Amino acid sequence: MPSSDLIPIYHADTGTVRELKKVIRTDEEWSQILDKPVFDVARKGGTEPAFTGAFYATKIAGLYRCACCGTDLFSSVDKFDSGTGWPSFSGPVSAMNIRTRKDSGYGMERTEVLCGLCDAHLGHVFDDGPPPTGMRYCINSASLIFFPGIITIRQE
Ligand SMILES: [Zn+2]
Repeated sequence: MPSSDLIPIYHADTGTVRELKKVIRTDEEWSQILDKPVFDVARKGGTEPAFTGAFYATKIAGLYRCACCGTDLFSSVDKFDSGTGWPSFSGPVSAMNIRTRKDSGYGMERTEVLCGLCDAHLGHVFDDGPPPTGMRYCINSASLIFFPGIITIRQE
């Protein structure tokens, strides 16, 4: 296996970095694994309607993982009520675990946020968030699975 297939991923429950093989599946395979609403958002770049997702109002402590591959993505520690109707975070558990790219769709210039391991569409990031980062990660509930009670260990 070429080393380029391995991606360092931060594990927020243990505070360790492990190199994992990039998760690559066809749409056909994903459609068999995921519920349709999750598939439509996470694999096809859709957006769930505001105030309809499972987690926009969740305040319980815990860890949010990728609905497609289980990568640790966001912590309740960084979650805030943005009033938008989507789960909003001031940052991911680690910059390692996500990637971003320009999204010029729908006549807007936005920055798309994707899972670093499986390229699931998570949402978009904006620069109007609260301190200390000033960033607002606007994420679809459908792209997340919530694990209540998992304590997030800060990286480094
Ligand atoms: Zn993923």
